[in-house]
Amino acid sequence: MSSVGKVAAGPTARLAVLEQGLVPAGEAVLRGDDLGVLRGDGLFETMHLRQGRPWLRDEHLARLAAAAAAVELTLPPTAALVELLDTVRAGWPAQVEGALRLVCTRGPEAGGPPTVYATLTEVQASSRAARRDGISVATLPLGVPADARTGLDWLPAGIKSTSYAVNSAARRWARRAGVDDVLWTSSDGYALEGPTANVVWLTGGTLCTVPAATTGILPGTTAAWLLGHTGELGLRAAERMVTPAELHAADGVWFSSSVRGITEVRTLDGVRRDPCPRTPDLQALLGFPVS
Ligand code: PLP
Repeated sequence: MSSVGKVAAGPTARLAVLEQGLVPAGEAVLRGDDLGVLRGDGLFETMHLRQGRPWLRDEHLARLAAAAAAVELTLPPTAALVELLDTVRAGWPAQVEGALRLVCTRGPEAGGPPTVYATLTEVQASSRAARRDGISVATLPLGVPADARTGLDWLPAGIKSTSYAVNSAARRWARRAGVDDVLWTSSDGYALEGPTANVVWLTGGTLCTVPAATTGILPGTTAAWLLGHTGELGLRAAERMVTPAELHAADGVWFSSSVRGITEVRTLDGVRRDPCPRTPDLQALLGFPVS
């Protein structure tokens, strides 16, 4: 039989639950009174599975641990989380890129252990297309000054909470506005981050990103790794505040995140940008396939 015209089926989605192991991907794993559902009270991490292994796993687990301390959520021991990740990825084909998500909610409303599970799916074609073709981005006001959130000592900042309602609203706004993504701006005029990505830009041989410590944005694992390795490309690295006008003047602007990798911003607020000649170097350095 000819296979012409047939699309090879990818691996099916996977789900593993702490202390249960692998379960059918459609299995219900949350109780109706789980605080993750009722209040968005939980944390998560999403990692890039490459050659069957989660890239920057320890950095993701370290960010999760810091966030758990900030929201007073007791996580299982790291070894149990690693075992859960190993369980969900076991036997995944090495040549298939995966998005590996680890979720820890506060558990049932009446008390009890956190709900902890991991999912694994194939990286979406739209993410691979964004790496290849770049994205269009529009700035979107977040309505607060850049230092508003870190100035509040009761508010955990820079955590990857499952409360993504604001992030999802921004993505819906992007769809309505006909752009691929948004870049939040502060009321005092600075670019902050996207709803699922950090912004990275190149200016005068320095690759920059926005400081998380003073703005409360998510400290991205991808941007941190990239800025830690810029020397390999003969570039310097810096954390800086930046305005949209400065981004328009930059030599290159990218969004960075764990699964999409680094994707060039080819249109910013309706203004087309020439492709940056350093994009292939950055993508090769980060090791995300581009096809
Ligand atoms: N900022 C936000 C709000 C995010 O949700 C994400 C990732 O999902 C990032 C930045 C990028 O972080 P990372 O590179 O660790 O995926």
